[in-house]
Amino acid sequence: MAERHASRTCPLCEATCGVTITLDGDTPLAVRGDDADPFSRGYLCPKAAALPALHADPDRLRTPLVRGADGELHPATWAEAFAVAIDRLAAIKRAHGADAIALYLGNPSAHSLDLMTFGPVLTRALGTRQRYSASSADQLPKMVSAALMFGGGLAIPVPDLDRTDRLLILGANPVVSNGSLMTAPDVKARLKAIRARGGKLIVIDPRRTETAALADEHHAIRPGGDAALLLAMAHVLFAEGLVTLGAAAGHVDGLAAVEAIAARFAPERVAARVGIDAATIRRLAREHAAAPTAACYGRIGTTCQEFGTLASWAVDLINVLTGNLDRAGGAMWTTPVALPGRHRAKGDSKFARHRSKGGLPEMFGELPVAAMADELRGGVRALITVAGNPLVSAPGVDELTAAIGGLEFRVAIDPYVNATTRLADVVLPPPSPLARAHYDVALYQLAIRNVARYSAPTVARADGAPAEWEIMLTLAKGVAGMGAAPLPMADAGVARELCARELGDLAAAGAPLAVTVEQALAMLDGEGPDRLLDLLVRVGPYGDGFGARPGGLTLAALRAAPHGLDLGPLVPRLPDVLRTPDRRIALAPALIVDDVPRLEAALDAAAPALVLIGRRELRSNNSWMHNLPHLMKGGDRCTLLVHPDDARARGLTDGGRARVASAAGAIEAPVEISDEVRPGVVSLPHGFGHDVAGVRMGVARAHGGVNVNQVSDPAFHDGPSANAAFNGVAVEVTAASG
Ligand code: SF4
Repeated sequence: MAERHASRTCPLCEATCGVTITLDGDTPLAVRGDDADPFSRGYLCPKAAALPALHADPDRLRTPLVRGADGELHPATWAEAFAVAIDRLAAIKRAHGADAIALYLGNPSAHSLDLMTFGPVLTRALGTRQRYSASSADQLPKMVSAALMFGGGLAIPVPDLDRTDRLLILGANPVVSNGSLMTAPDVKARLKAIRARGGKLIVIDPRRTETAALADEHHAIRPGGDAALLLAMAHVLFAEGLVTLGAAAGHVDGLAAVEAIAARFAPERVAARVGIDAATIRRLAREHAAAPTAACYGRIGTTCQEFGTLASWAVDLINVLTGNLDRAGGAMWTTPVALPGRHRAKGDSKFARHRSKGGLPEMFGELPVAAMADELRGGVRALITVAGNPLVSAPGVDELTAAIGGLEFRVAIDPYVNATTRLADVVLPPPSPLARAHYDVALYQLAIRNVARYSAPTVARADGAPAEWEIMLTLAKGVAGMGAAPLPMADAGVARELCARELGDLAAAGAPLAVTVEQALAMLDGEGPDRLLDLLVRVGPYGDGFGARPGGLTLAALRAAPHGLDLGPLVPRLPDVLRTPDRRIALAPALIVDDVPRLEAALDAAAPALVLIGRRELRSNNSWMHNLPHLMKGGDRCTLLVHPDDARARGLTDGGRARVASAAGAIEAPVEISDEVRPGVVSLPHGFGHDVAGVRMGVARAHGGVNVNQVSDPAFHDGPSANAAFNGVAVEVTAASG
């Protein structure tokens, strides 16, 4: 076959880089960065080079699996697999009610156009309150603080990276992660550019990360100290008359309450708990206030910890109090091309409408993964996992394994037989990522420029294999009919419902379009996710408004720009972006303010002698990437980083083994002695622990590593959101003989 080249968006992480793939027919051969992509400008990280290996991976499932009478998973036809899944799920729902089936969505759902558009159809069809996702092991605290302050879980301001004069980073390592809750391809070059234009980069992290190595300053904070540090900076801003609200002036409520809280966090009071001296905290506050523009940004170290919501809130407090919210070079909101519910008047702050048996709250319709094992043991009979591997990514893995194993029935929509899906009764594999259309509905909401790039499938789907959205729709149809509400089950019905909702929202907002639902539907392009995307683009801020704005964007226009569109730098969005009930910024939401005394109590309590934190690697993101040989070259990366002082005190040797014990369990890991971590902190990467019976991932099993979540404690979590706290877990480390 003739060699050809195809452009598409890399689906492997949040950076949304453009790639050019060389193919022989439908066989991908090589990948390079797409120089014509205006956002990523030819950048490529090592993960994308593994896309051909992912497509060709013999362990990636091409056909469904169904558990046979012998207890093993066997290949089955799609008809057979759907029949088993639907019969059992429908029977369980009929006999025991909607809450007898739990649903777990993994992180790759956010990258999948199919799942972003048709995942909600399955969720509604199930009608279960037993919903979980990787969000509560990741960014949920930031979503909670954004929803309470600004009215939307994804109304998260992002650093205006290309124009800022000062970036204060807490608990994030974008040089390795390539940005998270901040879509920014080639982030390393963008960070270097801050310094090249005379700006400053400050990193606050218990570990001297790859990002810290680029920075002007690195301060090795004690894990969990971020909220106290930022409130102490706010203390200085108020005490020294440095507060200026800039664009937020006139839009905020609760400033006096914030000042009263900040008054309790003098730098001298927090310094010991934070691990940064008071003089440095005062200087950081003054310099941040004095910078021409500045942005404060926090990520996983600030969210996956016991004060995650407070830290996430405090990040945006600093942006507000220094006049940097919604100004060029500060922290700004993206104006995405396609956003469901954009014209709705109300935000999505729906919290604690029900609780787990242990009292943990529902957030945005989901219960936290910290509650999952307890809930599965307490009346749930079946579990559907979609693009998720909670037995690697959720806390308390041993208990969760027993809970999932004890269910009557399990369905997985997943391309691999991994630590979780090995327990499934039916596995339904989605097509290769290269056989799917791609548009980053979620990630473009957090981009540091306004951009859009649609990718058509690069290769054909295998004969007879359904698309991922068709899998979701088929399951949804199968389990529907028992709930109270009729559902728009056919593909066209889904489009009709979304169209009616979006046009209705526009009319209610006083900006009706001059088309009926029928007329709009007749104008839409394609089927399934494409049709829904076309609708969202057309009613969006750059859209053609179904003819009202000639020359505006449509899906066809995105198709005609295969390298993507740059729609310019971020622009001020206050007050239109706000979806709080009164359309104002809530600086002191009750749910957050009520958690402040817990933080104060921690300041006064004795801190554990040794705590565990996670870490991220450049060649890894989701756990399935560990099955790609290209990404697993080199030495063992699943090592326990230990500071030399701590190693000496415990008799640990470099290359030796250590036993790590917490309240949740104990594991053993190879020791890597390094002063990268501050004394009193040890670090293990997440996403390992593949070498367990039943996993069919040869490369990953050969690099099995240890599952850090055997020592992550489900009882150790954030207050308001109950997000799992993977950072700051109290541990004891001793030399192991094995
Ligand atoms: S940074 Fe992310 S999106 Fe860019 S090439 Fe690497 S994996 Fe793909």
